[in-house]
Amino acid sequence: MDDVIIGLEVHVQLNRLSSKLFCGCSTDYHNDPPNSHTCPVCLGLPGSLPVINRKAVEFSIRVGLALNCRIEQQTMFYRKNYYYPDLPKGFQISQYDFPLATGGHIMIKGEDGERNIRITRAHMEEDPGRLVHAGTIDRAKYTMVDYNRCGMPLLEVVTEPDLRSPKEARAFLDKLRTILEYLDVFDGSLEGSMRVDSNISLAGGDRAEVKNISSFKGVEKALSYEITRQRNLRRRNIRVVQETRHFDELRNVTVSIRSKEEAHDYRYFPEMDLVPIRVADWVPNVQASLPELPDARRDRFREQYGISDDHAKSLTSEIKVADFYEQVASRTDPRLAAVWIADVLKGELNYRSLGIDRFSPDHMVEIVSMLASQEITEDGAVILLRTLLDRKIPSLVDTEKPGATKAGGQLSVRVCDLVGSLGLARAGDQAVRAAVRDAVAECASAVSDYRSGNERAINFVVGVVMKKTRGRASPAEAHRMVQEEIEKGS
Ligand SMILES: [Zn+2]
Repeated sequence: MDDVIIGLEVHVQLNRLSSKLFCGCSTDYHNDPPNSHTCPVCLGLPGSLPVINRKAVEFSIRVGLALNCRIEQQTMFYRKNYYYPDLPKGFQISQYDFPLATGGHIMIKGEDGERNIRITRAHMEEDPGRLVHAGTIDRAKYTMVDYNRCGMPLLEVVTEPDLRSPKEARAFLDKLRTILEYLDVFDGSLEGSMRVDSNISLAGGDRAEVKNISSFKGVEKALSYEITRQRNLRRRNIRVVQETRHFDELRNVTVSIRSKEEAHDYRYFPEMDLVPIRVADWVPNVQASLPELPDARRDRFREQYGISDDHAKSLTSEIKVADFYEQVASRTDPRLAAVWIADVLKGELNYRSLGIDRFSPDHMVEIVSMLASQEITEDGAVILLRTLLDRKIPSLVDTEKPGATKAGGQLSVRVCDLVGSLGLARAGDQAVRAAVRDAVAECASAVSDYRSGNERAINFVVGVVMKKTRGRASPAEAHRMVQEEIEKGS
């Protein structure tokens, strides 16, 4: 994909703020009726005046610094003039010259290895309201408008055209989201919290902009569709028109909505109701309060806990997972914990679309400790994880046996009790040895196949051992013991 050129404009809602950008309205509107979080300022009524939310500026500086940007000495706001039903003022307060942050970069996992993606700028602006169409955008009989979102604090992060594939665009968004969550300025689980405009072209061609995609998967799909569309045009010697397109998530296609507008179309001019802000003076304090960021935490995990870089990366890609890991690692074998959380637990959670908060660190500590002391097998540990996640704990739930207590409405179970009730305790050496002897005696033909050079025939015998011990033996150990037993007899 060497000829693909992608740049992103990411609108991030700073939704960890409690009030909007220029008024005191609450940002916590997601479960409330439409138009219940509004006031004359965010509705743009005549005579109302905006007042900047100090904390929003601070949050934005925090993001700027974390993206390795330069923070302007002084920043100011502009009016971006356009009319749209969700923008009752007829203009959006945004930034133009002197944006808050410029010239940054972050590292992402690219198609071949780590890649540095340059950030052009990050600027503050207010979110418009939201249009709710009765049906799809092109067939709706009517459209309703909800102004709850009007005036929500947004940070627009603009990249240089450094991305080379839809996958890299996705990797960039994942990394940006991780950083924002570490900074505690953003909650990505809220609807519409991150919306992406992407510019895409093939080398030498004009670019198309696909606007307002609200899911990362959508961005990847829209870009893949655009690459195919532009390649097909090129093959037929047709020029790509510079335009704005809409991604239809249901049909997985992009459709033209209008020709691309230029900056002068918006007639930017300074917002005289807001004074310029000298942000340079704020930087030292904000810098000092920055938390440990994902890349730094990944390096520390590798060194402090002696785990692989892949595990360290996987464990730090979500702040909640990283915190969970540290809680577990401080109380049991950190390397084994890394393997079981990164490779097994995360997979089981993904499969069920659950977050890590659905699993108790205490349970993980118990499971890892029992693995370390060989009280349970790896198969047994997987069964324990699944049982705890699916809450299929029949005997304990039904009959309040010792070990099952209802604490605060939540069922609390001790893993060691579960091991007992599910019969997962690892089989003792004696029992495994007896099973191996019986299996070797029963599987005469597999044993003779193995002796005559078919190495794989041994797996059949190991399978019989696992059956006889009801999965409570370690397969690797059973394999070793079967081999010994066969060699003894030959
Ligand atoms: Zn308001």
